[in-house]
Amino acid sequence: METQLVVLGGGPGGYAAAFMAADLGLQVTLVDAEPRLGGACLLRGCIPSKALLHVAKVIADARHATDWGVAFANPKIDLDAMRARKEKVIAALSGGLAQLAKRRNVQVIRARGVFEDSQTLRLEQAGDKPPAADRLRFQHCILATGSSPTRLPALALPTPRAMDSTAALDLPEVPESLLVVGGGYIGLEMGTVYAVLGSRVSVVEMTDGLLPGVDRDLVKPLHKRLEKDFAAIWLNAKVVAMADKKDSIEVTFEGSGVRDQGPEDRVQASGVGGQGPTTQHPTTDNRQLTTSTRRFGRVLIAVGRRPNSAGLGLEHTKVQVDSRGFVMVDPQRRTADPHILAIGDVASEPMLAHKAAHEGKIAAEVLAGHEAAVFSPRAIPAVVFTDPEIAWAGLTEGEAKKEGRAVEVAQFPWAASGRAQSVGRTEGLTKWIIDPESRCVLGCGIVGAGAGELIAEAVLAIEMGATVEDVAQSIHPHPTLSETLGFAAEVYLGTATDIYRPKSPRKA
Ligand code: NAD
Repeated sequence: METQLVVLGGGPGGYAAAFMAADLGLQVTLVDAEPRLGGACLLRGCIPSKALLHVAKVIADARHATDWGVAFANPKIDLDAMRARKEKVIAALSGGLAQLAKRRNVQVIRARGVFEDSQTLRLEQAGDKPPAADRLRFQHCILATGSSPTRLPALALPTPRAMDSTAALDLPEVPESLLVVGGGYIGLEMGTVYAVLGSRVSVVEMTDGLLPGVDRDLVKPLHKRLEKDFAAIWLNAKVVAMADKKDSIEVTFEGSGVRDQGPEDRVQASGVGGQGPTTQHPTTDNRQLTTSTRRFGRVLIAVGRRPNSAGLGLEHTKVQVDSRGFVMVDPQRRTADPHILAIGDVASEPMLAHKAAHEGKIAAEVLAGHEAAVFSPRAIPAVVFTDPEIAWAGLTEGEAKKEGRAVEVAQFPWAASGRAQSVGRTEGLTKWIIDPESRCVLGCGIVGAGAGELIAEAVLAIEMGATVEDVAQSIHPHPTLSETLGFAAEVYLGTATDIYRPKSPRKA
């Protein structure tokens, strides 16, 4: 079998690339091992998690309504119905993708593709039936194989009680207690779902803060809220061993961060040193390492994702892979092999669906002969769908510091926003990172309800090279949370009237 372009992987990057290439006149074959299109994002990631987070939001909002004089009865949770709704959402979207492929004459083959050389894929059976052909010859390939959850040997436990994000999304039960290993995107989003449904959720994070790398001003209000919603947040600690105890998992922690926070799942007189739950071990550099043991109903492991570049036969091509497993690409998403391009999680961070889709379209344009097409965004937005949400785009204060780049920062606390007050969400904050010379907005960070929707304005402003004056002069609708973007710009200019800032960084 032959094709002009094969796209390997049918996730948000792969299907965007395939559909765009077909629209640009290329003959396209899409190869994916899954029975349905959509990749990790649609089948076991962004979309199902947002379906569950929406339910969590409805329940949390109803609970908070007591503060405003309305009391609802405790919700009755029907896990089967929740799962069915999530599945319906996935089915609608993946069914839509199959239709869109058909309309565009994109041939979809269910198979596992392995490179035999730079222009041949061996098609291995992935489902019940063998694929339409054993081999697929191609002129070009766009590699879009995505990423998978990182598996740590210390955390491997063959029991359904130890879950990765895919298993957690299946919502097998609402365990009485859940340990989330990893205080990143997935851990906090899924931890939020389980906590609202009734689990006592504890998070253990290896570094000294939740969401490492994210602006601390943004993380602070979320941390404060999670301290109320979660049973415990343990920082500077990691899991070194887990043991299956049939009705629970016994977890051994290492690090000073795991401290008592109430009548937890501590194992009294545990095997650790035979002295109870906590033991101090001297380390070679004389710091005290603390080991403790606790039990949980289930454990969710969310310690990052790694690119899916192994086992693809890339050694039979000229494609180069870096030490972390990412396929090396240029700004047009070409690899070192002239026949192969790569996009999405397999090619570079950030591992985000919208970035992959954008790259996919660029790669399709490059192959259709649009020589000017390059992937060079000024701002890739990132959103953590917790409550409150955290969103940012463009340059962060931390990156500016690392690069030794002078920037100015203007912030607007949501406590001064009429809308935030009226919806009872005053913990938010909106901040702009501004170039002091050009006055262009370089970055934006928002924490607060709906931050993920609000960040879109900032992306447009940064992408278009808007100045802080442009933002301030754009009339924002009142009363909305979007005003906080305009107000933060006014704080910088010294023209804000909704807040008193006698010493503004700079007058207009
Ligand atoms: P992550 O990188 O966001 O977080 C992993 C966390 O685990 C980090 O905080 C890390 O310090 C910690 N960690 C690593 N090893 C540990 C250990 N042994 N013990 C305790 N903590 C440990 O990764 P993730 O949450 O698994 O998500 C993977 C990727 O998926 C993200 O980077 C993101 O790109 C993507 N994602 C995005 C969204 C979204 O856009 N809303 C949601 C989910 C996932």
